[in-house]
Amino acid sequence: MKSIVKSILHGKKKSEGINPIIELNNEAVGKYRIDRMPLPMRIDIETINRCNGVCTFCPVNANEPQRPYAKMTEELFKKIIDELEKLNYSGSVALFDNNEPFLDERIIEFQRYGKTHVPNAFWDLWTNGSLVTIEKFDAIIPYLDRLYIDNYNNEGMWNPTVQALIDYLEDKPALKEKVVFQMRKQNEVLTSRGDCPKTQMVQNFLPLVVGK
Ligand code: SF4
Repeated sequence: MKSIVKSILHGKKKSEGINPIIELNNEAVGKYRIDRMPLPMRIDIETINRCNGVCTFCPVNANEPQRPYAKMTEELFKKIIDELEKLNYSGSVALFDNNEPFLDERIIEFQRYGKTHVPNAFWDLWTNGSLVTIEKFDAIIPYLDRLYIDNYNNEGMWNPTVQALIDYLEDKPALKEKVVFQMRKQNEVLTSRGDCPKTQMVQNFLPLVVGK
């Protein structure tokens, strides 16, 4: 290592048979111990890159130009989960990112596979609730530690599928504890969604605060 550092300090050139920066990098990489690397506390796995929501603050809403359609292959999904299993991963994992997870018809099976193989992780899932029938809820909830349902409604009303779930859980306190219902507005303005034209428009008018 010392000789490589010296080569860099003394400006030894590539033409002299050594690319010191690459060698230094290779040597450092060689010293990594994968079993001593810190693992991420949170892992989000987006298995389909679509949403059926039309929230105006969100760049992936169904009214915006869409990314090229993509679904994660089952093979890749299982490879990720199997690797987490080998690591005995115990952080938190969610099978969504910037999408509606229930648009992927494999979501219940994927959730089952994930929780079964990586049982020490905390598994949560966020959905707009529009596709979560009672049947799907019953099928997926055993494999979740928390289900967040963002109910987007500008009038502050529970949407039909969400209302059905609220009624269903009325006399099931153990299951109800696993579910968080949140009333949200479709047309709210968030400054955390930079790619959305509406957000960018608002950001242009935000006052610039320098210091305090
Ligand atoms: S905020 Fe959520 S539900 Fe609304 S469009 Fe974006 S991803 Fe879909």
